[in-house]
Amino acid sequence: MTPGSADRSVRVTGHCRACGAELVETFCDLGLTPLANSYVKPEHAARPEPFYPLHAWVCTQCWLVQLEEFEPPEAIFSEYAYFSSYSDSWVDHARRYVDMVCQRFELGPHTQVVEIASNDGYLLQFFQRRGIPVLGVEPAANIAQEAVRKGIPTLVRFFGADTARRMVADGQAADWIVANNVLAHVPNINDFVAGWKILLRPGGTITAEFAWLVELVRRRAFDTVYHEHFSYLSMTFLREFLPRHGLRVFDVETLPTHGGSLRIYVCHADDPRPELPAVEELWRYEQQLGVATPQYYRHFDRAVVEVKMQLLEFLIRARREGRRVAGYGAPAKGNTLLNYCGIHTEFVEFTVDRNPHKQGCFLPGSRIPIYPPEHILETRPDYVLILPWNIAEEVMDQMAAIRTWGGQFVIPIPTVEIRA
Ligand SMILES: [Zn+2]
Repeated sequence: MTPGSADRSVRVTGHCRACGAELVETFCDLGLTPLANSYVKPEHAARPEPFYPLHAWVCTQCWLVQLEEFEPPEAIFSEYAYFSSYSDSWVDHARRYVDMVCQRFELGPHTQVVEIASNDGYLLQFFQRRGIPVLGVEPAANIAQEAVRKGIPTLVRFFGADTARRMVADGQAADWIVANNVLAHVPNINDFVAGWKILLRPGGTITAEFAWLVELVRRRAFDTVYHEHFSYLSMTFLREFLPRHGLRVFDVETLPTHGGSLRIYVCHADDPRPELPAVEELWRYEQQLGVATPQYYRHFDRAVVEVKMQLLEFLIRARREGRRVAGYGAPAKGNTLLNYCGIHTEFVEFTVDRNPHKQGCFLPGSRIPIYPPEHILETRPDYVLILPWNIAEEVMDQMAAIRTWGGQFVIPIPTVEIRA
């Protein structure tokens, strides 16, 4: 190591969750934070919270960006507070997806659809309305109950090879598997994808959506790094990884969701369908950017510090001028941002969220209280900091009334932006 350079190579702390190689290259180190989804109930406000290192690494063998595992997934996901149905744009995204694939792939009553991490049934309901048989698999019992209440059959289980074998034995093999925003959230990505291989019938298709590493880097979206999000995925990684499990990508699309996502279409490796040109094109694009080189990852840590300084500069100035700042939203990513930046109620008095399960609780770590959205209209803050910046347009529509008292919106990432 040369004097003065960042220490990136000497600390060997773990092994790649995909290929087992030693992890020696830092992607970003966000210090210590609580689990991003551990919202604090008021009766627990006097209790301490555990903080864990939030350090992302990149594997220089397979290029999977990842966190180290430190908590059993049961501790993270069994009582999850995220109900997909509370986001209009996300439900609309699901409806458009179902319309598109039903037409393109001629899905119908003969197609068994299984969604992994089916949440509250927000997506499967659209297949069901078309008379297509559906089954959800969802580990969070409170959320699965909500799906069952709406008439969406749901297994309360973690997905992996064991679950897939049991499902096949029970006659629940799938022609169509949907796995949105889950591939990145499973600690054992090998076992999870082995489950895909087992559950998928010959000729079947898997579609998976996940935040794309390239957009995370481009948008400096370090706040999408949190403990429940173990892997940060690229085509460079997946094109090598899936064939090791007897699967392959045959098509891919880029999506604007979650600040830039990929939707991959996966089939059995021996499926006769050809690989479409989009796969090679996207892979080549990543190679040109350098996704398979350590240099690509080495600027990110500094970009993260820059975002923190900008946001703190804005907040300090606003508070010195006597302005009041409220948050909008209580997403996991907001908790990474607030805790990494050291922002508490002295800067952001409160936040609001449409999800009644979060209202009345405090954000983990920062202990910023969460109210219903009307609280903004009642208290008329000067600035509303939009924590789910990926749906900033939707939030600005919903909260357009703040303009009546001269309130302004603040978007924190990739650079602090004030919007009247
Ligand atoms: Zn690896």
